[in-house]
Amino acid sequence: MALPLEREQIQTLTEELEVIIAAHLAWFKQLNRTLVCGGPVSRTDLADDAHLRSPFGQWYHSREPHPLEDNLDFKDLGATQQAMHDAARLALLEIMDQRRPEPELYDQCIDLALRLNTCLRRLQLETIGELLTTDSLTGCATRRGMLGRLREEQERAVRIQRPCCLCLMDFDRFKRINDELGHPAGDAVLRQGMRYVTSSLRKYDSIYRYGGEEFLICLPGSPMKDAALVVERIREGLSHLPIRLPNGETLRITASFGLAEMDARKPVEESIAWADMALIRAKENGRDRLEIWASA
Ligand code: GH3
Ligand code: MG
Ligand code: MG
Repeated sequence: MALPLEREQIQTLTEELEVIIAAHLAWFKQLNRTLVCGGPVSRTDLADDAHLRSPFGQWYHSREPHPLEDNLDFKDLGATQQAMHDAARLALLEIMDQRRPEPELYDQCIDLALRLNTCLRRLQLETIGELLTTDSLTGCATRRGMLGRLREEQERAVRIQRPCCLCLMDFDRFKRINDELGHPAGDAVLRQGMRYVTSSLRKYDSIYRYGGEEFLICLPGSPMKDAALVVERIREGLSHLPIRLPNGETLRITASFGLAEMDARKPVEESIAWADMALIRAKENGRDRLEIWASA
């Protein structure tokens, strides 16, 4: 699973986008001025790689992978910006030759520049919107919108005829960690533990903070056997993960897991309840273990 954006990263990206939008509008104003009034043409705008030289181009192409590349609008942006520079170059060549660009070419420049502005603003809004759906401590998704997204996974499972599993995980004896080592130590466990779990999941898996120290993992496209292997690997890895505490000491922790297959014909809430019953059984049977809900 792609690591979710952290709060600081969201703030940085939002500010970067603000700078890029301002630079784009300044460039657009200058381009329009040259196309309408004539005047000196910027050599950079005539270059084949003009799209790479602008603040946008450097921001877009300089990082691999880009933190926003999973965003639907992101891929479109690069193509729009390059097409805009290609059209601008053709229009500016006309100006250099003391001619006026054809109205279609002028329209194309303006439309692409405005579209780029709209896409950048939308990307900025979506990035800020992540603050509402991302838990600030663990970076996991919040419960806001969770049921809707799980219902979409359920519909998808029916459509592609592949099972989808749900897993509830709960840290073991967590209250004791808080009581004996302090609340900041508990926070460190949640932060580092969930970073490990998130990085162990596959691309299409998703994870939500379901309650205080309880998390819901959605494993689409996985029959129970495969999902159980994924979860078992996470459980095992988590139990060996050295958690660095604020006082410099290292702590080992465990968690319990309850797994259930999502039923395509029943409300999602019912499948969550089965995963919860399996989790309760995992706690009863000694913790640090996975239990699977078998219907009937
Ligand atoms: P069990 O093994 O049965 O799950 O026992 P437990 O102690 O983990 O479960 P219990 O539900 O008794 O305690 C959960 C605790 O988690 C209580 C709550 O104060 C703590 N908690 C919930 N959210 C946070 C948080 O964000 N940070 C910290 N440090 N503690 C939290
Ligand atoms: Mg617990
Ligand atoms: Mg709990």
